[in-house]
Amino acid sequence: MSRAYVALGANLGDPVATVNAALASLANLPRSSLAASSSLYRTAPVGLLNQPYFINAVVILETALSPFSLLDELFAIEIRFGRRRSIPNAARTLDLDLLLHGDTIQEDPRLTLPHPRMHLRAFVLVPLLEIAPDIVIPGHGHGRDLLGAVDIDQSIEQILAA
Ligand code: ADP
Ligand code: MG
Repeated sequence: MSRAYVALGANLGDPVATVNAALASLANLPRSSLAASSSLYRTAPVGLLNQPYFINAVVILETALSPFSLLDELFAIEIRFGRRRSIPNAARTLDLDLLLHGDTIQEDPRLTLPHPRMHLRAFVLVPLLEIAPDIVIPGHGHGRDLLGAVDIDQSIEQILAA
């Protein structure tokens, strides 16, 4: 079994409902179990600014799936939620990114691990640190030190569970 970290993001339709439904799909993945899930966060868009705010979260999975098999499962969930690929940073109904898979380090355009931009993104690091405060990102160091270095211009607001 490997410990995998997955980031969720949505900003079209009803993004809170989408992320909650996607969390249920992740909990039901084959040969995997959901070990932890962060709160939901409402975050300002980065890159392409003229679009709705995002809902973001991060989960930890214990999985027997290989990195590529897990990625294929994540793509299948994205498609089920109506994802259409356009340009990077564009609005999307659901984006699932594989952040880490055990201690796998690889550089493949289809799947790079650790995720090549995770250490730069407050909308990933804040929910990640909520559920994994001691996380170390291979090649980049302690998550908590990285958060200190990223641009904190981005507004990011925790949505408290009702
Ligand atoms: P983005 O998430 O950057 O907005 P996409 O979700 O459309 O963009 O992903 C673009 C490509 O990134 C996909 O074709 C996917 O194969 C590739 N990719 C590389 N590494 C990863 C990773 N760690 N997690 C998810 N996708 C990845
Ligand atoms: Mg993606």
